[in-house]
Amino acid sequence: VKGFDARNVAVLGLGRSGLATARALREGGAIPLVWDDSPEARAKAEAEGFAPVDLTRANAFADVAALIVSPGIPHLYPAPNPIIARAMAAGVPVDNDIGLFFRSFATPDWDDFDQAPRVICVTGSNGKSTTTALIHHLLDAAGRPSQMAGNIGRGVLDIDPAQDGGVVVLELSSYQTDLARALTPDVAVFTNLSPDHLDRHGGMGGYFAAKRRLFAEGGPDRAIIGVDEVEGRYLANQLSEGPGDDRVIRISSGQKLDDFGWAVFARKGFLAEWRRGKQVAAIDLRGMGGLPGAHNHQNACAAYAAVRTLGIAPKLIEEALHSFTGLPHRSQTVGERAGVRFVNDSKATNVDSAAKALQAFPRIRWIAGGLGKDGGIAALAPHLGAVAKAYLIGHSARDFALQLGNTPHEICETMERAVASAAAEAEPGDVVLLAPAAASFDQYPNFEKRGEDFTARVQTLLQA
Ligand code: ADP
Repeated sequence: VKGFDARNVAVLGLGRSGLATARALREGGAIPLVWDDSPEARAKAEAEGFAPVDLTRANAFADVAALIVSPGIPHLYPAPNPIIARAMAAGVPVDNDIGLFFRSFATPDWDDFDQAPRVICVTGSNGKSTTTALIHHLLDAAGRPSQMAGNIGRGVLDIDPAQDGGVVVLELSSYQTDLARALTPDVAVFTNLSPDHLDRHGGMGGYFAAKRRLFAEGGPDRAIIGVDEVEGRYLANQLSEGPGDDRVIRISSGQKLDDFGWAVFARKGFLAEWRRGKQVAAIDLRGMGGLPGAHNHQNACAAYAAVRTLGIAPKLIEEALHSFTGLPHRSQTVGERAGVRFVNDSKATNVDSAAKALQAFPRIRWIAGGLGKDGGIAALAPHLGAVAKAYLIGHSARDFALQLGNTPHEICETMERAVASAAAEAEPGDVVLLAPAAASFDQYPNFEKRGEDFTARVQTLLQA
């Protein structure tokens, strides 16, 4: 990271991205002042040779060039963060690792601009990780070196594109686009929008405002936008410069988009690319084991469009789409017995992703619940047609039971009981589906552990 030579830069939050930030600042010649409320996190930083500096002190920002905030730290909602408020009051610029990344490696002031990496960013409520991993996979199949980072599990400042080269694919959550002072991707993808994390953004307005920063003035050369919701349609129209415009690529799962400058959509098992009123390519999406369901067709469209902007041929993309094996915990089949399939969609932590899962199978034994979100599952009422019975776990079990009304359900509390009950009652053709529509933190450290627990219990059962 450049631009802070011998200056103090405060780093708030010492998880994966905070530590990567501190290291990158140190390498770039800055003096990182690191802080985290948690003593364990501070100890980890100390082990790497960083001396914690208490940023809660009154004059902590007297001689500080910038404050870099980790994505896990809420800045305004549910309550203003006092450290961030103090930095702002002292006139210290507040940024995050994503902003530092763009300023250091991907802007016109970068010393070595000819070598600047192509940066593709992916945001949206659902489908980010799948789309990011799929873009990476397609680039790989085309022989184009690329690296993934961001919300997908690697700090963006852990990569040094100056050394590593190639295309950088970043998954960005609203927690990351929110505060970044520079966001200048070459290609940006907006998958879709549905309510999530509203407590952190103060409502839907703040949530959309955070995501759309990726598409601000001077933003991406190409904007790939899912237009199946009002927000995406609105954004696409605002960015479009006219009927022949090919800066915006609209994507859809279900709608035929044949009168735009550039569009990619999935319908009836096929993906079609249209430019200026003409179909220029079509791909068969049927039989893609790694990408089941209409929602994954949307992800396929997004990833297809992203790599098309880099000139990769449709034929090659078609082959590579079929070899994608999918990510764990997203509509992942983890077992099968006597015509009953067990599907782990632990990542369905919000209502929209759970709705998509509930639409993907004809008859479902649905394991749901956890730490419920605002409004619970009321919005799922129209999507319960395939649910033979719900098996409820976790903190929200009783709330969900009330909202389920006439849909058969049982309060199981634990994953163990839910899996046992669902498996015992399942009939051939049923899918036992974990799609919680809730966060995992009441019973698990994260959604991965919840998915692993489900998978392990299914496997034990199948071996019995
Ligand atoms: P994110 O990184 O945005 O959370 P993931 O790819 O990890 O997205 O998927 C999160 C959840 O949403 C999973 O349950 C998955 O099955 C579901 N999902 C994936 N793609 C989409 C999509 N395009 N629209 C709605 N739900 C999706």
